Amino acid sequence: MLMRSPYADMAPPDLGYAAGGLNRRTEWRVDADKLNAAAVAPAARWLMHCGDTLLIAVRDGTLDPLFDRASAAAVEAAAGVDHALETCFLGTHQDAPRFARLLDSASADTFRQDPAFKLIDLRSIAMQGLFPPPVLSEMATAKALFAWHARHRFCSNCGAPTTLSCAGWRRDCQACAGEHFPRTDPVVIMLATDGDRCLMGRQPRFLPNVYSCLAGFMEPGETLEDAGRRELHEEAGIATGAVSYVASQPWPFPSSLMIGCMADATSTDITIDRTELEDARWFTRDEVALILAARHPDGILAPAPMAIAHHLMRLFVQAKA
Ligand SMILES: [Zn+2]
Repeated sequence: MLMRSPYADMAPPDLGYAAGGLNRRTEWRVDADKLNAAAVAPAARWLMHCGDTLLIAVRDGTLDPLFDRASAAAVEAAAGVDHALETCFLGTHQDAPRFARLLDSASADTFRQDPAFKLIDLRSIAMQGLFPPPVLSEMATAKALFAWHARHRFCSNCGAPTTLSCAGWRRDCQACAGEHFPRTDPVVIMLATDGDRCLMGRQPRFLPNVYSCLAGFMEPGETLEDAGRRELHEEAGIATGAVSYVASQPWPFPSSLMIGCMADATSTDITIDRTELEDARWFTRDEVALILAARHPDGILAPAPMAIAHHLMRLFVQAKA
């Protein structure tokens, strides 16, 4: 049975991509008058994408990811009409309409050498904390939407081409009348604990010396807690009992939702699945505190503060008090 974790009542997480101030205005998506009015509103702003990369304006030495209608149109004209792919209406932020525009990845060449622009991927933007949380959340929304559009240009039911509808929140198939909606893939990410110790591991693709919570995609027919217990058993060979929910975080690479949980270990002997993990071990609470402070004697490091794994580790340390 899934329980609400006592950890969920502790310091509210300031998770990258999650702190959205967006009013999604879902009713506007099928209201052409509302959408047209939003697009010509003086406060309307566009996030511009060249494929997977955000185009950022450099104005008076500062980075600005939000383009007004005229500057968005100028960007599009410079890139050429062949490069324009999709537009999505994200919603409003403090009553200012927000749109996202996708140009193809080749359009990046138009701006690469231009000092008035920078091309920065979302992961780097988040890691460097370049923009405040509401904008980062809008960027994550746009990235996940565009990634979904890019992978769903043909109907999964009949194979015919699909077209964007609902201001970017649906794709329609004219051949079979199928309607397809953007998907989110749930990933359970768990910190297994055994009293004063917790289990962390590292995947070969992690940055050197970084250890993190174990994680895996949920499968059809599984509950959240089933998936958590299965992943911990498959990857580290440990058994777990109670699993409790802490917090979640959109993770648009390309379209995951990280669901952060704590899991009570009921066995502690580790058997590592070497196809998934390079290493896994138990760390004491004091060690985790040193890891978070980048002062662990073995040089072990935590994931970035914007990642939910970092917060699960921090909450575990704070629970000592
Ligand atoms: Zn179809």
